[in-house]
Amino acid sequence: MTCVAVPRDHHRVRVRRTALATSLYTPQSPLPAFEQSLPPPDLSRWLTGNDGIPGVITQRSGHAGPTVVIVSLVHGNEYAGATALDRLLRSGLTPPVGTLSVIFANLAAFARFDPENPVASRFVDEDLNRVWSAERLHSNAQSCELDRARELAPLIERADILLDLHSMLWDSEPLLLAPNTESSLTFAAALADPDGPDLIVTDLGHRGGNRLIEHPRFTTHGGGCACLLEAGGHWQRRTADTAEAVTMKALEFAWGQRPARRVMLRRAIVTDNVVAQSANFAFTESYRGGAFIRHGGTIIAQDGPDDICTPYDDCLLIMPNHRPARGHMAVRLAKLI
Ligand SMILES: [Zn+2]
Repeated sequence: MTCVAVPRDHHRVRVRRTALATSLYTPQSPLPAFEQSLPPPDLSRWLTGNDGIPGVITQRSGHAGPTVVIVSLVHGNEYAGATALDRLLRSGLTPPVGTLSVIFANLAAFARFDPENPVASRFVDEDLNRVWSAERLHSNAQSCELDRARELAPLIERADILLDLHSMLWDSEPLLLAPNTESSLTFAAALADPDGPDLIVTDLGHRGGNRLIEHPRFTTHGGGCACLLEAGGHWQRRTADTAEAVTMKALEFAWGQRPARRVMLRRAIVTDNVVAQSANFAFTESYRGGAFIRHGGTIIAQDGPDDICTPYDDCLLIMPNHRPARGHMAVRLAKLI
């Protein structure tokens, strides 16, 4: 896997609609009822932690080897990853080499999870997946999430291999997000599988701040590699199964147990972040994440007075958000490479 530059656009993504063209906009309906087939896990036995940090279970093999960190619950309402890690810990998982730390990250937000309002407990004060720059971590700012990030930071700084388990609100195929470095892309390739996820995405980051996989430890000269799994729908049983299967692949990779095999995987690079500029952003169809738009210049959404168009042929829609608030990410546009 080699790093590549971002391809150039062919068409403009945002085009002001002419006075004659009619808007497809229809008022946004309330959030639909999302599938909730996976109950929240009972994490009580992990809350204290075993190494001085709440919600962190660290096991040392006593043999030389990598420091592996598997993270769940960076977003408090995305508990499928925590379910997977709870299962693996209960099964007696121990590292044969090196050190393994399992992190249940935003326990304060998870404690507020309410199945009647499942989208509300993503965080307490701010998004824990936007605070991982040296600047934020070393600032004087305080929040529930920054305090937690500072508590976890020493573990992150030692991680040779980090997997961050997430899930998605809107219907989408599972995918792997990897920083554009040789080591992280190699790691992501080891996790890809024809049974899913087989799509590795490198994106443009979040303008709101650094995600955990963008911590300085995982930049080109940081020494560690990282990958984020979007395992499926937030509260679905199969999402926990995917998170568990990918975690096992990550551990086999880390422990030298995963034989090299050539998998037909797909790699995409995000070229555009489409941020809603109006309160009435609306897609022209109920696109699923991973949808493939054949022709460049296709109108995929309307945002106030603007049409949103695909910038090139064979454009991939990454995690469309069908109810973006003004200023929030509505979709990422990506090119298969
Ligand atoms: Zn998430």
